[in-house]
Amino acid sequence: MTRAHNFSAGPCTLPVEVLEALQAEMVDYQGSGMSLIEMSHRGQHFDAVFEEAITLVREQYGVPNEFEILLLQGGATLQFSMVPMNLLGDGARAAYVNSGHWAKGAIADARYYGDVYVAWDGKADRYARMPITEEIKLFPNTRYLHITSNETIGGIRYFEWPEVEVPLVADMSSDYMTRPVPWSRFDLVYGGVQKNLGPAGLAMVIVRRSALDDASDQIGQYLRYSVQVDKSSMFNTPPVFAIYVLGKVLKWMKKKGGLEGIELEANRKASLLYNAIDGSDGYYDCPVTPAYRSVMNVVFRLPNENLEEQFLREASAADLVNLKGHRTVGGCRASIYNAMPIESVAVLTQFMQDFCSRNPA
Ligand code: PMP
Repeated sequence: MTRAHNFSAGPCTLPVEVLEALQAEMVDYQGSGMSLIEMSHRGQHFDAVFEEAITLVREQYGVPNEFEILLLQGGATLQFSMVPMNLLGDGARAAYVNSGHWAKGAIADARYYGDVYVAWDGKADRYARMPITEEIKLFPNTRYLHITSNETIGGIRYFEWPEVEVPLVADMSSDYMTRPVPWSRFDLVYGGVQKNLGPAGLAMVIVRRSALDDASDQIGQYLRYSVQVDKSSMFNTPPVFAIYVLGKVLKWMKKKGGLEGIELEANRKASLLYNAIDGSDGYYDCPVTPAYRSVMNVVFRLPNENLEEQFLREASAADLVNLKGHRTVGGCRASIYNAMPIESVAVLTQFMQDFCSRNPA
């Protein structure tokens, strides 16, 4: 078996043991004579898988009882609309931090549904950092402050959550279940699961029950959190395969020491990589202000674009794949989500050192 060192930003590498377990039970799930994805989502097998996944999220993420956990379709992108549709009742406004590409997406969609303003804009700093609390300017009658906990393209993240007087709402797509969340400050968090937790096709929304009443009854049922809560995320047919894989990844995560184990390992992996960058005498350059450097998406540049192209080509030939930065920003990006083995990061840092000594600037 050959597995590449896959630094894709998502969908991305999954634990090998999860893939093997899926393979082993794909044709005949627990003696049922069929795979799990061929059964009714209302049967006992799928029900058990679903319930176990929700329990594992609640346990490992420390989600308090006053929050509901929903598994929905439409990715994080649909949540850009569902959040304001559901939370902005009559006359309420919402504040958004513009921290880069994904925050902009959330802001653009929220504007269709309510009075939305930007409480801090990272543009002047070229989106190289997140704001500190004192920089966030809130107006009266603000229902929530929306943040993007980790900008997947810019490679920045909050290392401290803003301490503001209004509830936080966060897009956690690219650092979901990688570090503890102070739930008392949040009304809602959401994200696609296709980075740290499973395959594409599923968004996880964790919403405070008291926030469910804010929605107008003029929105379609699928789009209303309260309907999804009443129907246990099964208002319609759920994405059974994605939920099945999510459950397996959550079990794998538990074996790795749960959130604590995952966070420790994530910090180790990121340190390895940032040390390689910082120890290269400026050959590799990370444009992000150090305190805000993402632990999940490590962005870096080489001395020029020709060297970057050569780097990506040779890396790929050495089975270090998907290291190209996002098309909007260029450069290189190594995404090192939960399932990325630390051994692969070590192979990458070794390659980086070799490449730099073979190809001086
Ligand atoms: N927010 C962030 C931070 C993301 O990284 C992404 C996807 N890369 C999205 C939102 C959009 O997610 P989806 O494709 O699941 O709609």
